[in-house]
Amino acid sequence: MAPGGGRAAVCRRGANRLDSRAMNVIIAGGGIGGLTLALCLDHAGIECEVYEAAPEFKPLGVGINLLPHSVRVLTILGLQHELAISGIPTAELIYYSKHGQRTWAEPRGQFAGYRWPQYSIHRGELQMLLLDEVYKRIGPERVFTGAALASFEHREGCVEARFIDRQTGRASATATGDVLVGADGIHSATRHLFYPDEPTPRFSGRLLWRGVTESEPFLTGRSMIMAGSANQKFVAYPISAEAAGRGRSLVNWVAELPIGGDEEPTRDWNREVAKERFLPAFAGWRFDWLDVPALISGAEHIYEFPMSDRDPVERWSFERVTLLGGAAHPMYPIGSNGASQAILDAADLAETLKAQPDAVAALREYESHRLPATLADRAGEPAAGPGGRDATGGGARAGRLRTPRRGDLAGRAGGGGEPLQAARGL
Ligand SMILES: Cc1cc2nc3c(=O)[nH]c(=O)nc-3n(C[C@H](O)[C@H](O)[C@H](O)COP(=O)(O)OP(=O)(O)OC[C@H]3O[C@@H](n4cnc5c(N)ncnc54)[C@H](O)[C@@H]3O)c2cc1C
Repeated sequence: MAPGGGRAAVCRRGANRLDSRAMNVIIAGGGIGGLTLALCLDHAGIECEVYEAAPEFKPLGVGINLLPHSVRVLTILGLQHELAISGIPTAELIYYSKHGQRTWAEPRGQFAGYRWPQYSIHRGELQMLLLDEVYKRIGPERVFTGAALASFEHREGCVEARFIDRQTGRASATATGDVLVGADGIHSATRHLFYPDEPTPRFSGRLLWRGVTESEPFLTGRSMIMAGSANQKFVAYPISAEAAGRGRSLVNWVAELPIGGDEEPTRDWNREVAKERFLPAFAGWRFDWLDVPALISGAEHIYEFPMSDRDPVERWSFERVTLLGGAAHPMYPIGSNGASQAILDAADLAETLKAQPDAVAALREYESHRLPATLADRAGEPAAGPGGRDATGGGARAGRLRTPRRGDLAGRAGGGGEPLQAARGL
């Protein structure tokens, strides 16, 4: 939908204490985190609007994983059927050497005794599934495209956000609300407004190539595998219930190689490259249970993405504005946790806003729950792959917190109360 200038929310002058039903949340970013937040807010009885920078929603990306804690949230939102007809409930994670020898395995999701499955799913399908629900439950008139957050201003008792159309550079919408949430991903404009001196994400020296290929099912047909080591790695897992229904597998795969250097190649989720760029390095990886070169060669599109990282920031919430998902805590797109953590953020933020009618205090409370949780998660960040560990990813980085621009902290409301269970009540 074209941006129509935003809803004319009334600024309640001087009021921090609001009835949650009267609260209006502006969400900048209609990715996995932003759309889940819209659904969680609706579940909590809080109004919202979603502003997405892209001119239209398209099912972009390849495979991602939803871990059981995030599937729990989506199940409580009533999406279990949609997930089941789209994704694959992952049964096991198995590690192999680069020669295809099995070194370690563990069951996953319900196969490991969790109450909720782990799903491997196409990111674009998941985003469209969430968008459909947002349209049904909240209404298409509250979802705006071609609206990239450009700036915001705190006014008495509310926040005003201004959006532009990136294609024309012109103003496309203005919205006033009680709260603004920057759910605008790793290149977050919201985060940049708080941390203008933050450098661009740091390149790890490793490149990822991602693709999907239809093939014969391998192993259980619900297995996730990781072969190789930090120097050369291949990850594969099936992501489509539809393909499984036909006796086939739509296999998401990720090849990883170090290329060295500090200079980061283009960081664009949709950057397509030719397989010749990396296929020769995997030419000998033909195992009796998986033919890696055949998988790579069978992909219609191959996307290149650098493994890049940002230092964690010490604050997400400033008065009536906060960060969520990749904007708050960017993660490598190979650890099975980026989308899941964004979903947990969304559930926690909605529940905290519902329980705490003072919007400013609620955002600090949300931060006090989720910032340490994602920092702890990062301390054991599985940068070496699903379930793996990487020596560069540990506590050293977790200890290097970036501080906001001086002055941003002045006069802000104090921190929140007792940490609450993620997604409590949802
Ligand atoms: C096109 C695309 C493809 C991806 N593919 C993969 C993949 O294959 N595998 C993987 O592991 N991860 C992928 N990701 C990242 C993954 O979705 C996220 O890291 C994770 O799900 C956390 O979700 P998020 O909502 O925080 O961020 P995202 O899912 O990245 O969503 C952020 C959203 O904000 C929008 N946006 C950006 N700037 C602004 C702005 N200024 N104002 C308003 N909206 C803005 C973006 O267009 C996007 O829709 C992809 C992300 C994108 C955008």
